Amino acid sequence: MDINIEYWDYGKKTAYTCTWDDYCIDSWKKIIKYANKKDIKNSFFINNGYCEAGKFQSNNLITPETPVSSDDILFFKKIINEGHEIGGHTMYHEDCRDLTDTELEKDCLDWINTMENYNLIKKNQGLSFSYPFGVRPKKLDIIKKYFLGARAHGGGLNLKNPKNIYRLKTVNLGKRTYLQKLNNSLDEAILNEKILIIDGQGINNEGWNPIPENIIFNHFDYVFKKKDNVWITTMINIIKYTIQRNNLSLNWEINDKNIIIKFKKIKFNFDVIPITLSFNFKIKSCIQNNKIIPIENNYIRTSDFNHIIKIKL
Ligand SMILES: [Zn+2]
Repeated sequence: MDINIEYWDYGKKTAYTCTWDDYCIDSWKKIIKYANKKDIKNSFFINNGYCEAGKFQSNNLITPETPVSSDDILFFKKIINEGHEIGGHTMYHEDCRDLTDTELEKDCLDWINTMENYNLIKKNQGLSFSYPFGVRPKKLDIIKKYFLGARAHGGGLNLKNPKNIYRLKTVNLGKRTYLQKLNNSLDEAILNEKILIIDGQGINNEGWNPIPENIIFNHFDYVFKKKDNVWITTMINIIKYTIQRNNLSLNWEINDKNIIIKFKKIKFNFDVIPITLSFNFKIKSCIQNNKIIPIENNYIRTSDFNHIIKIKL
């Protein structure tokens, strides 16, 4: 008898996330409209310095420090409710390598405080990060202090258990992205069980190196078709699942027709997400802390790592 923590949600072969940087708000509204039809979750790494709404110009690195409009805040709140993610991209979009620790900390903290004031993020929810210009600082201490993981720009697919969760790689989107190549990267991710993180800014004419909308929407159609093999989620969920999976361990005992499963005690300092357990034998029912846990294809999901799980065989 064997009980395992699955690599990904409901035993999917790989994890996929589509991420967007900066502040291409007009593009993002169109992307969300299409993505929601296909249940594709997206992560948006907002740089709120740009905000006069992604109207960011040919030199998109101006930092006007304009407040985010109330319309945009409503849009972001709506998409968070729909399961999309808002992640960090700093307030001022400086090259992290040029900043002292104190300056980088201020850049991150100003972003966090602003987003908390807009009620777009909460304390201890767990945040992910995208390095401005895709470049990492020499030391990661400050990023590690405020974020659970981070991605750069480019590099391809990620190992299914990335060596360094602060060095996640991406497949980039842009004016010259071919649909076939993009879809092939998903097939390769499924075949080799590697994580695929897509990285863009805007669509059509908005932002730095935007991708034509027909390409990304066709790609979403393709991702949707593969959903039985792919956990389509946000970047923070991939990071959290990885951290949780690598730190949780199970033990269990069998008596009569029951199995009692316990997690080794561990406390995470962020809002946890459900992880999937699998069984190589048939299970009939499952209860944890007086709650019935649904069984799907002999998988169960839990986000409660303190109470024992009672399984009926
Ligand atoms: Zn950027």
